[in-house]
Amino acid sequence: MDADVLIVGAGPAGSAAAMQLARNGHRVILVDRAKFPRDKPCGDYCDPGAVHAIEQLGCLPDALAAGAVAIPGMRIVAQDGTELSPSFPNGRGLLLPRVRLDYVLLQRAASAGAEIVDGFRVNEVAAGADGVEIRDSRDRRLKASLLIAADGMRSVTARRLGLYSEVTSGRFTVGAYFEVPDTMARGELHLGPGLYCGVARFGRGRANVCMALPRERLKGRSPEQAFSDALPSLPVLADDLAGARRISAFRSSGPVGFRTSRAASNRVLLAGDAAMQIDPMTGQGICFALRSGILAAETAANGLTTQNLSRQGLGAYARRRAVEFGRKVTVARMLQSLALRPAVTPSLVRRLVARPELASQLLGVTGDVLAPNSVLHPHYLWDLFVGHAPRA
Ligand SMILES: Cc1cc2nc3c(=O)[nH]c(=O)nc-3n(C[C@H](O)[C@H](O)[C@H](O)COP(=O)(O)OP(=O)(O)OC[C@H]3O[C@@H](n4cnc5c(N)ncnc54)[C@H](O)[C@@H]3O)c2cc1C
Repeated sequence: MDADVLIVGAGPAGSAAAMQLARNGHRVILVDRAKFPRDKPCGDYCDPGAVHAIEQLGCLPDALAAGAVAIPGMRIVAQDGTELSPSFPNGRGLLLPRVRLDYVLLQRAASAGAEIVDGFRVNEVAAGADGVEIRDSRDRRLKASLLIAADGMRSVTARRLGLYSEVTSGRFTVGAYFEVPDTMARGELHLGPGLYCGVARFGRGRANVCMALPRERLKGRSPEQAFSDALPSLPVLADDLAGARRISAFRSSGPVGFRTSRAASNRVLLAGDAAMQIDPMTGQGICFALRSGILAAETAANGLTTQNLSRQGLGAYARRRAVEFGRKVTVARMLQSLALRPAVTPSLVRRLVARPELASQLLGVTGDVLAPNSVLHPHYLWDLFVGHAPRA
């Protein structure tokens, strides 16, 4: 065996798992097809739950040293221009380009003792009675007792093991970095008709602008054209960006949406987007990736100690995931179905403006610092959908 645990993918899920396992004395190899530091299409927003996980992993000082800026809440703009800026009920968010965040986490995994093999693109995976083997395109092979697949939303590892399910309908994203006139750090979500755009204003005149569009809006167009054509549907953002200068190429990805795979199999655990993708609208993917990496590491450590790496032996992982993520996904799906409808969203946003405590509660749930039950509660839902309408 080359290691106790092989981890494929050095995003937040893989690095978090590697850090935890290496710190507990397990031999870990973390492989990634990329050479680090590497970029990744993302809105660059860590919600307060993600910040808490980063802190738990002991990486917060490094993230701040790498330039992360704290934000106290989010600005949300509805289709008719109504806007609100609720604060997180506790904690704070962070904005940090992924090229830096993921490198911070990877370096921490390495200093914890994980062996890093970058430039290793996994092509084949075989899980047998005596271990798991991965192979890359140059026929390099690595073998371990357990595999954690953390290779992202198109996970080759999960596909090879027959554990993958496709996103059937989902939006495509186009985004780029811009030089913007203002300097205040702020996170924003602009809601349009069937589309949305997240903006991470890092301060110092830089912003990441990342739009999610229906597939048809990209057909026959370059990402730049699709972005420019869609921008007028978000008039407040279009005004804000007037005169802004683009300072990077457009990156696009997709489809993005909701997807779940079976997260445990014999000698295999899936973590992060490889196991479950959440639509990026609520900005929870990094939090889920970090937390699922930590849960996978705990399950792996237990399985290695008890020498039970069977699907049943690793079954606690799926149960813990269901408890931790299940209802959060329900809330995210609910918001997704309400937030992009010009006939519905503005009146809900007006109600949230009139009842700031409801807005803050909702942001606490989507920020992963309040239990989903606080908004999946009949009283909350009554107040939001039925309660006294705000005066015009
Ligand atoms: C456009 C967009 C915007 C988003 N915005 C936000 C946001 O603002 N906030 C938020 O919380 N979430 C956001 N998300 C979601 C978030 O990016 C993901 O949930 C998160 O990155 C998942 O982390 P991960 O570690 O599972 O996978 P990733 O971060 O995708 O890492 C996977 C790693 O696996 C490697 N890999 C892939 N295939 C192979 C292979 N065959 N062999 C070896 N290595 C491989 C890749 O190189 C990569 O380094 C966004 C997603 C998208 C698409």
